[in-house]
Amino acid sequence: MTLISTNTPTAELQALDAAHHMHPFTTGADLARKGARVITRAEGCWLTDSEGERILDGMAGLWCVNVGYGRKELAAAAARQMEELPYYNTFFQTTHVPAIQLSARLAELAPGDLNNVFYASSGSEANDTNIRLVRTYWEEKGQPERKVIISRWNAYHGSSVGSGSLGGMKGMHAQGGMPIPDIHHIDQPNWWAEGGDMTPEEFGLERARQLEQAIEEIGPEKVAAFIAEPVQGAGGVIIPPETYWPEIQRIVDKYGIILIADEVICGFGRTGNWFGSETMGIKPHIMTIAKGLSSGYQPIGGSIVNDEIAGVIGKTEFNHGYTYSGHPVAAAVALENLRILDEEGVVTRVREETGPYLKQKFEALADHPLVGEAKISGFMGSLALTPDKASRAPFAADAGTVGYICRERCFANNLVMRHVGDRMIISPPLVLSKDEIDTLIDRATRSLDECHAELKKQGLMVAGTH
Ligand SMILES: *Cc1c(COP(=O)(O)O)cnc(C)c1O
Repeated sequence: MTLISTNTPTAELQALDAAHHMHPFTTGADLARKGARVITRAEGCWLTDSEGERILDGMAGLWCVNVGYGRKELAAAAARQMEELPYYNTFFQTTHVPAIQLSARLAELAPGDLNNVFYASSGSEANDTNIRLVRTYWEEKGQPERKVIISRWNAYHGSSVGSGSLGGMKGMHAQGGMPIPDIHHIDQPNWWAEGGDMTPEEFGLERARQLEQAIEEIGPEKVAAFIAEPVQGAGGVIIPPETYWPEIQRIVDKYGIILIADEVICGFGRTGNWFGSETMGIKPHIMTIAKGLSSGYQPIGGSIVNDEIAGVIGKTEFNHGYTYSGHPVAAAVALENLRILDEEGVVTRVREETGPYLKQKFEALADHPLVGEAKISGFMGSLALTPDKASRAPFAADAGTVGYICRERCFANNLVMRHVGDRMIISPPLVLSKDEIDTLIDRATRSLDECHAELKKQGLMVAGTH
């Protein structure tokens, strides 16, 4: 076997990577041709690659490194726990201190009577748990016909068979026999792309009322739950119109169905509160958590469940669980991460100081000739690129063509900013300082300028039709 290190020449690392490593959500052949960027170190909000370039991480990894990179306390918490008890399970009437402590802390942080945690190692697994949890709940309540879970097109709830079915990504459904039965999708509250002539407020109501229509069509006695992200993340950071969530809450209450808030991105400070549900003013019965729970330092996720549902589930044996449910090292790291978020005032700072500062600068990008709308909630934001602001037109080129060009310019300018179709998105570490916000905005502006020039050169500033 070839022995490599971070000092191995980049081309050699890339060749070995392409030869043996299958990447998620990547066309392998493209990657083999271009080579992956090799990240070797990180500190605060900055990544270093194998060429020694320093890159500002505008995405906090994959929306998860909320406290930033290089926190020694988290490494120490992991090392301590590994020495004391590296692993034990939580099956069959056993438990351990990290799982007990983390559950009690999450019950404290989560709103209302969300007091009970079922652990997984990822958001996907947690949402798989949720599918079984809500259906089992209704079975135990004597209503086994309540099986249907309503979700939304362009939602992201994970990549396993169950969670990928809950999600509304058509490209994912097209591969490997998804969705599973009894999942129903309604349209998303994406006013920019789908709002037509309606005002955002009218459109928000229209999209929320699709939930009521779906319940009536399916039959209220057959619907188990509605699942949604408070703000869609991977779908392009879609912040719903203000009318949307209150109307969804009214409908959920009216029909007595379970509301699952997928807080995998929105949770742990991302929107300036501990949970996106607080920012959006909703009262879920179950919350999915992962990502920022450990700031990505360890794989851990879970479902925070209210007292009523946990009580009903607890009456019989729930035949479900993962070897690593409540893993002690992951739990210890999550606890330490929550301590940092709380004691260093990270969440409060996003809400009161850096969030408003970023918002002001980010929304000003809407003045750029290429940007139609610039929207942000806390530290998650998006820009809709357009050839014609007034009509909110998409580009004539295939969706994603322009977004990809813009992302390549960001990459060249050492800024990680992702594209979802022709939306550019950011979700930086929550510890990003005001100076770093200035750097982010400068680099984003330069990248937009360069992208705009490139589009004109290639004749791509042309409107298409919706
Ligand atoms: C990332 C994500 C998931 C899936 O989490 P994994 O840890 O990747 O399995 C689920 N829901 C939302 C909203 C996410 O952003």
